[in-house]
Amino acid sequence: MKCPHCKSKLSFSSIKKSLRRPQPCNECEEGYLLTLSMSRMLLLILPVAFSLVMIRPISLHWGIPPSIFTALIVVLYGLSCLTLVKRSIR
Ligand SMILES: [Zn+2]
Repeated sequence: MKCPHCKSKLSFSSIKKSLRRPQPCNECEEGYLLTLSMSRMLLLILPVAFSLVMIRPISLHWGIPPSIFTALIVVLYGLSCLTLVKRSIR
């Protein structure tokens, strides 16, 4: 993921830390915070719900437990809703 201020790449460990409190960017030293984007959640809820319904017969057809696909879709949904926002550290 990229810094919302200067677009430089951020390390995974510092992004993880920004879940709890804002972290400074290494390049521009501006603060950012990892959060869930509500607008993206609403935008994706329909295709996600649709694919959850559709994946069941397909996975049964392939002989793969549908729960594997369900978990995968939910994880991907959660990850794609994550976004970095500008947040001052002080
Ligand atoms: Zn930056």
